Amino acid sequence: MINTVPFFRPSIGEEEIAAVTDCLRSGWLTTGPKTAEFEAVFTDFLGGDVESVAVNSATAALHLGLEALGVGPGDEVIVPTLTFTATAEVVRYLGARPVLVDIDSNTFCIDPSLVEAAITPRTKVIIPVHFAGRMCDMSSLRVIADRYGLRILEDAAHALPASHKGSIVGKAGADVSAFSFYANKTMTTGEGGMLVTANPTIASRARTMRLHGIDRDVFNRFSDPRAGWVYDVVAPGFKYNLTDIASALGIVQLKRANAFARIRAERAERYNAAFADLPLILPPGPSEGDVHSWHLYIVQLTDSAPINRDDFILALKDRGIGTSVHYRPLHMMTVWKDFCNSAVFSEADRVFNRTVSLPLFMDMTDSEQDRVINVTLEILNKQK
Ligand SMILES: *Cc1c(COP(=O)(O)O)cnc(C)c1O
Repeated sequence: MINTVPFFRPSIGEEEIAAVTDCLRSGWLTTGPKTAEFEAVFTDFLGGDVESVAVNSATAALHLGLEALGVGPGDEVIVPTLTFTATAEVVRYLGARPVLVDIDSNTFCIDPSLVEAAITPRTKVIIPVHFAGRMCDMSSLRVIADRYGLRILEDAAHALPASHKGSIVGKAGADVSAFSFYANKTMTTGEGGMLVTANPTIASRARTMRLHGIDRDVFNRFSDPRAGWVYDVVAPGFKYNLTDIASALGIVQLKRANAFARIRAERAERYNAAFADLPLILPPGPSEGDVHSWHLYIVQLTDSAPINRDDFILALKDRGIGTSVHYRPLHMMTVWKDFCNSAVFSEADRVFNRTVSLPLFMDMTDSEQDRVINVTLEILNKQK
C-alpha cells in the first residue's frame, strides 16, 4: 500500500467540534449572537478601526463590495487573469465589464504598470488578488488608484493573515477587503466569508444588502425603537448572511489563525531547503517588509526539468500525492475569452504551463511532507 498525501486536509480540533455542538444545542442556528461575536473578534484580529461584515462566501463579499462601491452597467473593473473565476464573475453580476490584466511572473500578482495601462474613463475599481498569500504591491496600486480616482477591492481569499509594510491585510490600502473561509482556505467555516472596510457607508450598505435589503437585522433588534416585526425593504438585496453554526466554527479557527500561518511558513521553508537543487523555480517570497500567509506552495518546472508539468502531476498522483494547479488563467476560459479583445497574457501563460501546487496544510505531518519531498526528488532527479 502506498502512503497517500492529500492536497489539503482542514484542521478541525475538539474545540471547533464543541463550539459547533454548543451552537446546535443553543437553539439559535442562523445569523445571531455567534455571528455578531465572530465579526467583533475578526475586527479585533485586524487591530480595530474597521468594520467586519460576515457573509456566506468570499464571492458574496466581493459582490457586496462592488455593489457598495457603486459599480454598475457601463463600468469597467480591473481583474488579474491569474485568479479564480469568482473574482471576475462578481463584476458581471452587476452588469459591469471585467478587464483582464496580466501578472508579474516574479510575484504572481497583478502587474501595477499594466493596471495603469488598462485604465479608461469607464474604470471604477481595481481588484488585486494576493496570490497564494503573497501580498500585491498595495502601495503602488494605491498611488495609481488615487491618481485616477479609483477604488480598490482586494480579493484576500488567500491572504489571512498576511501583511504589507507592517499593515495587516484588510488595512493595507484597500477600500474594501473580501476574505474566504472556504474549506481549504487559511481558516475555515466550511463555507463563509468576511467583508472588511473602514468606510461606515460601505459597511452599512453591505449589511443591508446581505439580507434582502431589509433595513434592520438581528443585531439591532433591541436598539431599534420599532416593534419587533416592523421592517422596511429599501433595495432588492441578496441572501448572503452567515449562519451562527459557521460563525461558532470561525471564532475558534480565528484564534488559531496565527499559529496556522507559522506552521505553513515552516513547511514552506522546509520545502524550499529540500528543493534548492532541483530544476524548479521556488515560490516567490514576500516583498521586503511584508508577511506571506503561505496559503499555497507553488513550484514551477524549469526548462531543464526531465518531465513536463502534466506528467509531473501524473507521476505524483501515481505515487499517491495530491496536487492542484492555481489557476488556469481566466483568459483561457470560455466565458472570459469574450472579454479579452485578443489581448495577450504572456506572463500568465508561461506561469500556468509550468506550475504545480504541492500539499501544504496545518496538520501535515513530517512524514507526510518527507513523502512529498522524496517523491519529488525521485521524479526530478531521474535524469541527473
Ligand atoms: C476561494 C477563492 C474565492 C472565492 O471564495 P469563496 O469563499 O469560495 O466564495 C475568490 N477568490 C479567490 C482568489 C479564491 O481563491
